[in-house]
Amino acid sequence: MKEIIIHNQVSLKVIRGDITKCKADIIVNAANTSLLGGGGVDGAIHKAGGPAILAECVQIRNRQGGCPVGEAVYTTAGQLQADYVIHTVGPVWNRGQQEPELLGRCYRNTLALARSLNCTSIAFPNISTGIYRFPKPKAAEIAIGEVLSFIRTHMGIAEIQFVCFDEENYRIYADKLSDCH
Ligand code: ADP
Repeated sequence: MKEIIIHNQVSLKVIRGDITKCKADIIVNAANTSLLGGGGVDGAIHKAGGPAILAECVQIRNRQGGCPVGEAVYTTAGQLQADYVIHTVGPVWNRGQQEPELLGRCYRNTLALARSLNCTSIAFPNISTGIYRFPKPKAAEIAIGEVLSFIRTHMGIAEIQFVCFDEENYRIYADKLSDCH
């Protein structure tokens, strides 16, 4: 685990591991537009959190027809050690024209929603870098950039965890965060 303290006493942590084991007010899910669950981190969150999460996702889907790319919605965290799960939908990497902006929106919208829920700690997976094939270094740059600009302008969130399931992402985040001092 690597930790740095930056602006406004906010702690940024890079953790190698499984997000379903993390303790934070909010656990972020890299969902898909259907909100009906999938593989990767999405499957792991639904499996560990239990059926209450999917039940709320179905309600949201019935109400608003799923979640567009770049947007975020929240549900209960079920049996996870968190108050809420925020489900955000990352872009599928294609040629990179729109994808960086859309991934940035995922982080911005998730952080804004977390703030409106009065939460102080949040754990992010490496959105879009699995099945959606977003290049990992670029995705990390966007994630860290959005988080830094959010904490420079908003008070309230005290701890942000980047939870890296694979060693490659862990190294990328640890290196990039070392440059933040
Ligand atoms: P996407 O479709 O957004 O690419 P994936 O779930 O395929 O979503 O992958 C996103 C990231 O989540 C990948 O870096 C993958 O290694 C990681 N991941 C998979 N399972 C877990 C987990 N249990 N905890 C944290 N991260 C995970």
